[in-house]
Amino acid sequence: MGLLDELYKEIILRHYKSPRNFGELPGANLRVMGDNPSCGDQVELFVLTDGTRIADVRFRGQGCAISQASASLMTELVKGKPWTEALALKQQFKAVVVDGAAPTPALGDLAALAGVHKLAARVKCATLAWNALEQAAREAGVLD
Ligand code: ZN
Repeated sequence: MGLLDELYKEIILRHYKSPRNFGELPGANLRVMGDNPSCGDQVELFVLTDGTRIADVRFRGQGCAISQASASLMTELVKGKPWTEALALKQQFKAVVVDGAAPTPALGDLAALAGVHKLAARVKCATLAWNALEQAAREAGVLD
């Protein structure tokens, strides 16, 4: 295993063991449940939004390290951002794990999940939280 792989593994395990923005969000006006039965992952996403910006976001969940680390990293990245920017990041992240594109600098530590592209069975683990965010965007009326 190369140095970069070791670093990526460490990032994933750190977010899995100590997820950021974990727990229910009091006052959230959107709540989306996502599940990935093929692996047994669950993510419940709470969003506080004014319709333009993600003022706050938290999640609860259980499942494999990839699914929970992806959710943790996602909340860290999109918190405080306008929906347009969050949705652009979602597209970039999906291009990486689904299509094997190179991670953009804007994705930050989410680059740690780039290797998931080669593990077809785990792609749904990595995209679970992002699909929940997409659903939340639909419910917020910012995505058709
Ligand atoms: Zn999983």
